[in-house]
Amino acid sequence: MPIYEYVCDTCGLHFEQRRTFNAVDEPACPNGHATVHRLFRAPAVVFKGSGWYVTDSRPKESASKGES
Ligand SMILES: [Zn+2]
Repeated sequence: MPIYEYVCDTCGLHFEQRRTFNAVDEPACPNGHATVHRLFRAPAVVFKGSGWYVTDSRPKESASKGES
């Protein structure tokens, strides 16, 4: 199953969520906001230690889209 990355439009939280291929609904922000958008990054299977759950421990500053 791919992991998609999302950014909350309200608080800027960057989080990841596993999605089934037939899922049509977008997830909600872990902080309770409804408006998120998906980052169209290749769904690489990378296990960065904590990749299999919502990473809600990141700073709530606005996420930079241009991280390299
Ligand atoms: Zn949010």
